[in-house]
Amino acid sequence: MPATYQVINPATESTVERVNLADLAATDAVIEKAYKTFESWKKVTPGDRAKLLRAFAQIVFEHREELAKLEVENSGHTIGNALWEADNVANVLNYYSASPERLFGRQIPVPNGIDITFKEPLGVVGIIVPWNFPMPIASWGFAPALAAGNTVVLKPAEYTPLTAVRLAQLALKAGLPEGVFNVIVGKGSVVGNRFVTHPKVRKVVFTGSTEVGKQIMAGCADQVKRVTLELGGKSANIIFADSDIEKAAAAAPGAVFDNAGQDCCARSRLLVERSVFDKFMSAFEKAVKNFKVADPSLANTDMGPLISKKQLDSVQSYLTETVAFTGSAPSGAGFWMAPTVLLPKDTKSKSWNEEIFGPVVSVLPFDDEADAIKKANDTEFGLSGSIWTNNSSKAIRVARAVESGNLSVNSNSSVRYWTPFGGYKQSGLGRELGPDALDSFTEVKNVFIATDN
Ligand code: NAP
Ligand code: MG
Repeated sequence: MPATYQVINPATESTVERVNLADLAATDAVIEKAYKTFESWKKVTPGDRAKLLRAFAQIVFEHREELAKLEVENSGHTIGNALWEADNVANVLNYYSASPERLFGRQIPVPNGIDITFKEPLGVVGIIVPWNFPMPIASWGFAPALAAGNTVVLKPAEYTPLTAVRLAQLALKAGLPEGVFNVIVGKGSVVGNRFVTHPKVRKVVFTGSTEVGKQIMAGCADQVKRVTLELGGKSANIIFADSDIEKAAAAAPGAVFDNAGQDCCARSRLLVERSVFDKFMSAFEKAVKNFKVADPSLANTDMGPLISKKQLDSVQSYLTETVAFTGSAPSGAGFWMAPTVLLPKDTKSKSWNEEIFGPVVSVLPFDDEADAIKKANDTEFGLSGSIWTNNSSKAIRVARAVESGNLSVNSNSSVRYWTPFGGYKQSGLGRELGPDALDSFTEVKNVFIATDN
C-alpha cells in the first residue's frame, strides 16, 4: 500500500480527497522518464514548441474556473485570487511561448574564425513548490523551463497538490508529449530531496522557507547542480508624511493580509513617519476593520483561512506583543484568524524580525528618510517592499537604497510576469519571470569555427 495524504479544505476542515504519495522508486522512475523524453523534446522545432506552449496556455485559460475552484477548496484562497492565479499560469505560458523562436545566441568577432554562442537546455529540471501559491509559483518554473527545451519534474507541496496534478493532465490534453511535464506528489524529504540527489536532475528550482532552501543549496553543491531559490521575506511598507495617507492606509491591509499573510512578499513591517503616525493609524484601523474575512468562495471576500492548524498555531504564537487593533474572522470549523496589528516595543522585538507568514503586521514609527532606510534594511531578508511618497526624487532615492529585489512606489504590487522577481540576501538566489528567465534554464555554449584553413 502506498503512503497517502488526506487533502483538507482549510475553510471547513472537511476532506477534499486522499492522494497517494510517491516513494523513492516511483520518483526515480518519473525522473528516468523525463530524462529519456528530453532527447526528443529538445529536438522539437522552436515553432512547434511555441505552438504546444500556446495550446497549453489556451487550455489552462479555458479551465480557469475549474482550476480556481480547486484552489479555493484545497488552499482556502479567495475566488478572486484563485482566478488571478489560474490566469497567471496561462499568461506565463503565453509569455514564454514566444521565447523558443527567440532563444538567440551571439556572433562574437574573433581573429581567425567565427565565434557563435548557443543557449542549450539543461536536461531534467526539478521544481519544488510551496503551499502558499501553488499554481503561479509552479508555472514560473515550468513555463520557461519547457520553453528552453528542458523536461520537468514538479513536486507540489504536500498540503496543496490538486491544481498541479490537474495542470499536468491539461498539458497532455494540449498535446505536450508524455514525459515532458511530470508532476510527482510526495513528501519534501522523499521526492524533493531526490531532485537534489538524483544525478539526472540538472537543476533545482526551489520556492519555500529559507531553512529548507539552505539545505537544498548545500545538497546541490555536491553535483554542482544549478539552483534557483525563492525564499522568505520580511518586507517593509514605508509611509512618508508627504504621501497620500488615505490611499496608503486603504491599501495597507491588502499589502500584508492578502492570502491570509501567507505571502513571501507580504509587507509585514509597516514603517510610518512619526509626524503622521496617528493620522495613518486611524485610517488604517478603519481599513482593517473593513477587510472582509469570510468564506473564500464568495466574490467579495478579502481573506480566507490559513492553510492548516499547524500554521495557525505557529502564527498565533507571535501574539505576545501589544495589539493595536484587529479585524474580524468567522468562528467554527476552519483555520480562521482575524487580521492583527501589533505594536512591537522596538526593532529587537520578535514580530519585527521573524517571518510570521500569517495575517499579522508590526508597526513602528521612523524619524526621517535615513532612519526609514536603516530600519527597512535591518533584516537578513530582501524580497519586496513599498514606498509611499509624492516626492518622486525621494521615491527613487529610497527605492535605490532599500536592499530588496522588488519595490513598488505608491503601490503594493510585487509580481508582474513581464518583470524579474527574486530576492536579495537570504530571500533567494537568482530571478524568475521577466525577459531573462530563460538564462536560468539554459547553458551558454561557445563554438569557434576556424576559417583560416
Ligand atoms: P518549506 O517547508 O520550505 O517547503 C517548500 C517545499 O519544499 C514543499 O514542497 C516541501 O514539501 C518541500 N521540502 C520540504 N523539505 C524538503 C527537503 N528537505 N528537500 C526538498 N524539498 C523539501 O516551505 P512551506 O512551509 O511550504 O512554505 C512557506 C515558506 O515558503 C515561507 O517561509 C515563505 O516565505 C516561503 N516562500 C517564498 C516564496 C518566494 O518566492 N520567495 C514564495 C512562496 C513561499 P512538503 O510540502 O512535503 O513539506
Ligand atoms: Mg515546511
